[in-house]
Amino acid sequence: MMVPKSEYTAIRDRFLMGDACKDLAKDYNTGLSSISKILKKFGISPKRHRLITLFRHKIRNCAKYKKWKCDCLERDNSMCQVTGQTGCPLDIHHIKELNDIIKTFLDELDFLTLEDNFDQLFQLAQEYPDLWDLSNGMAVSEEGHKKIHEQQNKPT
Ligand SMILES: [Zn+2]
Repeated sequence: MMVPKSEYTAIRDRFLMGDACKDLAKDYNTGLSSISKILKKFGISPKRHRLITLFRHKIRNCAKYKKWKCDCLERDNSMCQVTGQTGCPLDIHHIKELNDIIKTFLDELDFLTLEDNFDQLFQLAQEYPDLWDLSNGMAVSEEGHKKIHEQQNKPT
């Protein structure tokens, strides 16, 4: 079935929030290929998007990432760099977004693909300096982090 054009942005938004293509196809009573075509109109390749999400997740959960966070916290004396709060849970804000760093990394190594070389790319990422640059991290409280992202109008 044809999906009305007026639904295209809703489909894109649901996909970007994590809904699977097959669920979108079911809800709009259409096929996977038409969902994929709609997303491509927005410059989104569903397969690549999923792989980048997985890759980012793997980076965020690796030992080196945990160490990077600890090192940033230590350097900032466990104090929120926006509000000055201490003694509250702190996160590390990426000054250059993690997604952008990963995309640049993948562009530089475009002879490898996440589809075929996922583990190899993960190993190479362990040595990619921009990912582990302490000056790109900033200790922030939940409140401070919200403030930064509200100003930038971007997700954490
Ligand atoms: Zn952030």
